[in-house]
Amino acid sequence: MKVVYSEKHQSHDPQTFLVRGRMTRSAEQPERADRLLAGIHAGGHTLVAPEDFGPGPRAAVHTPEYLEFLETAWARWQALPDASDEVIANVRPMTGYASYPTGIVGRAGYHMADSGTPVGQGTWNAAVWAAHSAVHAAALVAEGERVAYALCRPPGHHAYADKAGGFCFLSNTAIAAEWLTRRRRRVAVLDVDVHHGNGTQGIFYRRPDVLTVSLHADPAEFYPYFVGYAAERGEGDGLGYNLNLPLALGTADDGYLQALDIALARIRAFAADTLVVALGLDAYEGDPLKGLAITTPGFARIAQAIAGLKLPTVLVQEGGYLAPELGDNIRSFLTGFESRL
Ligand SMILES: [Zn+2]
Repeated sequence: MKVVYSEKHQSHDPQTFLVRGRMTRSAEQPERADRLLAGIHAGGHTLVAPEDFGPGPRAAVHTPEYLEFLETAWARWQALPDASDEVIANVRPMTGYASYPTGIVGRAGYHMADSGTPVGQGTWNAAVWAAHSAVHAAALVAEGERVAYALCRPPGHHAYADKAGGFCFLSNTAIAAEWLTRRRRRVAVLDVDVHHGNGTQGIFYRRPDVLTVSLHADPAEFYPYFVGYAAERGEGDGLGYNLNLPLALGTADDGYLQALDIALARIRAFAADTLVVALGLDAYEGDPLKGLAITTPGFARIAQAIAGLKLPTVLVQEGGYLAPELGDNIRSFLTGFESRL
């Protein structure tokens, strides 16, 4: 399988993450990609460097104000007196009404859903190349590859059109899906990350042309908390084109595969001709963020079920943190997928 990967992700190395009131090192570390790459090499896959697709694909999903914020936030923050090395929001707009502030402290609050998205000097560059990687994988599939995998870092599925959140800045999955949609593909997005794909859902929530489906740990007790519930089915023209399948915390392989059958049936009914998978591996039983309990062989079973759709498929890396088995898990998923081609 072709794997699109850029070393430019290394310029994003977030240091801070607020967990239960304690400031810790972010779980979204560059070493994640090293471990995933070890699994890719062990699986015998082919690395491809992403091309520069320009600003168009990200601008098709994100607002101009948000993109300008992300590109300039670090430099503006450094011009503040006694500023930290990373941009971290400490204010949030009220829901329902907010004016758009001119200052960088206000804009950080406006454009960040939580404190999990510290912006450092190299964050923008890494996020841009993660998005290029996702588009490159989409282009490979558009040109006839049956499946391609983008090893994106930072991840993307918690990023909204105008907000960062949960380690995510640019919505790589949504950018790939939108890029394909503009090439007349009928796209379904299937999110198997342990966390609900709230950003992807938000981006396509009022649209009937892209189906969004997410399996995830029940948000009543798990990030992103405020969305990801079964009652969220889309709005306006998009009503009926979003499916959430929240799972009890600790759900293991068999329970997961039962819910996956429901997701795959919905994708078949939608008559998608192309699939984009938001491929988090943090549903793993040993993941530091602990939500579900998928085993390493379980990822192969999940991949086989998804490959059974027989659709051209773009795999976009999302979460999956520093468990020793992270490389084994991506290898298991990709091997399982290829076994059903
Ligand atoms: Zn996740």
